Amino acid sequence: MGKGVKVKCMKCGAIIQSMHVHDMQHCRCGAIAIDGGSDYWKASGDCNDIYFLKEEMTLHDLMEEARAKEIMTENYVDTCMRYFKNCGIKVEGKTIYSPIGENFLEDEIERVNILIKYHNYELQENLPLKF
Ligand SMILES: [Zn+2]
Repeated sequence: MGKGVKVKCMKCGAIIQSMHVHDMQHCRCGAIAIDGGSDYWKASGDCNDIYFLKEEMTLHDLMEEARAKEIMTENYVDTCMRYFKNCGIKVEGKTIYSPIGENFLEDEIERVNILIKYHNYELQENLPLKF
């Protein structure tokens, strides 16, 4: 009996943890909840909104975590979209099209990776048209 796993809401960024078996915790926006302490854990909500934090986090994990928090507070997606638009990169729905014959710059790759990892985007090659 004791503390359960820590989970993070991908919608509001809140990190919640159930402290004992009958301690149900909700995130700020109400999208997710965790219950059961260490005896069992039961997470509620859309699986895309729930991010399980590892018990032992590496430095890399901690950095990822910090970055994820930043995404939530700074409206990272909007910033990325503006950035992509300025770079002439096409985005339709949740698909990012890489420009033909051009490699992504390091900064763009970083943004694409974050969008794919945390916001369920996908990257597609922008195939040249055939005549
Ligand atoms: Zn939430």
